[in-house]
Amino acid sequence: MKSWFRDAVTGEGQWSLDEVRYRSPAGNLLEVVHDLEPLREQGPAGLKALWDQRWGPRSAHPFHSGIWGKKELVLPDIPDEHVVTLDEGHTSLLPLGRYAEDLGCDGQQLLLKQCGNSHSGSFKDLGMTVLVSQVNHLIRSGKQEFLGVACASSGDTSAALAAYCAAAGIPAVVLLPDAKVSPAQLVQPLANNALTLALDTDFDGCMRLVRQLTEDGKLYLANSMNSLRIEGQKTVAIEIIQQLGWEIPDWIFISGGNLGNTAALYKGLEELMELRVITRMPKIVCCQAAAADPLFQCYQRGWKDFQAVTAQPTQASAIRIGDPVSVPKALKGLMRHDGEVEHASESELAEACARADRCGFFACPHTGVTLAALEKYIARGRIGANQRAVVISTAHGLKFTQVKHDYHSSNLDGVTPQQPNRPQRLAATIEAIYDAVQRHHHG
Ligand SMILES: *Cc1c(COP(=O)(O)O)cnc(C)c1O
Repeated sequence: MKSWFRDAVTGEGQWSLDEVRYRSPAGNLLEVVHDLEPLREQGPAGLKALWDQRWGPRSAHPFHSGIWGKKELVLPDIPDEHVVTLDEGHTSLLPLGRYAEDLGCDGQQLLLKQCGNSHSGSFKDLGMTVLVSQVNHLIRSGKQEFLGVACASSGDTSAALAAYCAAAGIPAVVLLPDAKVSPAQLVQPLANNALTLALDTDFDGCMRLVRQLTEDGKLYLANSMNSLRIEGQKTVAIEIIQQLGWEIPDWIFISGGNLGNTAALYKGLEELMELRVITRMPKIVCCQAAAADPLFQCYQRGWKDFQAVTAQPTQASAIRIGDPVSVPKALKGLMRHDGEVEHASESELAEACARADRCGFFACPHTGVTLAALEKYIARGRIGANQRAVVISTAHGLKFTQVKHDYHSSNLDGVTPQQPNRPQRLAATIEAIYDAVQRHHHG
C-alpha cells in the first residue's frame, strides 16, 4: 500500500483508500498520505524529468492529464484502466501583461493560472477526476457497490461531478437550493443527465441532507470534506512551478471559500519540499470576499479563535461560505508557513475584474477577489520589483456572465461601476458607425 487515509488533525490512524470513510472516529477530516520514500529515491531531477516528459497531449492514458501526469503523488495504487479523466489540468499560466503594467509592475512577473480553462469550467475538475476515479475503481473491481455519487452544490461542484460521472457511467445525484441557482449553474448537471433535485432550502440545508443521504454508504459523498479531491487539487502547485521552469514564485494568491483549495495548495507545496523539488515555500495569500470572510477576521485576531459567520450575498457566489469545512487543514498550512489573508469588497472585486477584462482577460468574480487582493499588496509595496506573483483563477468567466452583464448595465447591488461598457444603439449608416468608432478611439 503506497497511500492511505489518516486523521488530518491528529495525524493518527491508517485506513485503506478503498474504505468508504470521510472522517476519523474522532470526527476530524481525513487526509491522504503517500509513502514518499520511493519517490525521494528517484531524486528531484528524476521526478522533474518524468513529469516534464509526460506533459502534453501525446502521453498515453492516463498520463496526458495534468493530474494523472503526477499519478505517483495522486493515487499511485489505482489501475490505469479505472482512471476517469477528461484531460483536466495543464491549464495556461499567462503573464498579466498590460494589466500588471497598469499597476506599475513588470507584465511578465505577475501571472494568472487559468484553472477555469478546464473541462467543466472550474478547478473543481482537478479534484473530481480523482474522486470519481476512485469510486469507479471500487465499483469495477467489485469492492463496493453504490447507487451513485451525491453532492450538495450551488454550481461548480455539481457541474464537475455530473460530467465525470456521466463519462464513467455512474449515476450522479445533485442537491441544489431551489430558485437560488442561476440557469447557467443549473444547465450543466441537467445536460450531463444528473438526477438534479431542487430543494426548498438553502445551501446549508442541502449540505445537511446530503450528509444524511450518504451516511449508510449506498450513495458516495462528493463534497469537499472528501479528502480525495485535495489530491487532485494540490497538483496546481506542482503545475505552476513546472510551468515556471521549476522556479519558485514569491507569492501565490488564491481565493478561499470552504478552504479546501488553500489546504490543497499547501499540501502540494509541502510534498514538493519533502521531495526536494523545491527548497523554499512561496508566500500564500488566501483571498476572501468581505461578505464572507471568517478566515480574514481570524487572521486579524492573530489566528486566534476562528469563528463562523453568516455569509452575506456576494458576486463571488462560490465562496459565499461562512462556516468553511476545511478550516483546520487550511489553518495548519497558513500558520506553519506564515501565510496571509486578504479580503475584497464587492466594488473592489468588480473593478479588478473589469480592469483585467479590459486587458484581454475574462475574470470570474472569485478571480476578481484575488486580483483585488493583489492590487492591495502592490499598492502597499509588498510585492518587490524583482518578485514573481501568481494569481490562481478558479473558474471561467463565461460561467458568471450574469454578474458581468449586471456590472456593465450598472445593475449590481452596492456597486457603482467605474468602467461600464454598453452596447450603443445606432442608425444603420456608415456615418453613424464611423462617428462611434472615432469617439471610441478618443475615449
Ligand atoms: C469552489 C470554488 C472556490 C473556493 O474553493 P474552496 O476550496 O471552497 O475554498 C473558489 N472559486 C470557485 C470558482 C469555486 O468553484
